[in-house]
Amino acid sequence: MEQRTAHGSAVGYGDWSLVPPGSEDFALYGGVGVVGRARDWATEGQYLLYDGPAQGCVHGLYRMDTCGFAACKTVGLDHTQIWVHHDARSAFLLTHPYAEEIPDRLRVYAEMHGLDVTTDCTDSWYDPATLPIRLTIPPGWPLWPIERDAAVLLHVSPISWATEP
Ligand SMILES: [Zn+2]
Repeated sequence: MEQRTAHGSAVGYGDWSLVPPGSEDFALYGGVGVVGRARDWATEGQYLLYDGPAQGCVHGLYRMDTCGFAACKTVGLDHTQIWVHHDARSAFLLTHPYAEEIPDRLRVYAEMHGLDVTTDCTDSWYDPATLPIRLTIPPGWPLWPIERDAAVLLHVSPISWATEP
């Protein structure tokens, strides 16, 4: 199913977008196999890929214009994206470091930002040698900037999803 990317310019600020897996804009680091598996996974979960400033660390969840924090580069994040739920009700950072368990420093980083940190084999589409780790905005929190911005954008530029027969 073809889906259209929602561009942040539709709501008047910033160079960012939410990219559904059915969009021709859907792209991330990795070969054809990686992109294909990510696409299937994002379709199944109805996740939108955040393409914008600070997209490789927690500061994208804060919708900062850039990230200049050294900690984000040394904490063990690797092959990282930000994903937003189809209804903008939650978002998470998914990172795929070469590790066998969640590194302590990454757990501390998540906790300092109030994020839940989990690993689940169903997120393992990047490389079997990596561990998929989610840093998720917990339910019940006030809106985070990325949820707020996504809600506004998806109101103006709705993204349709195929429904199961
Ligand atoms: Zn950062």
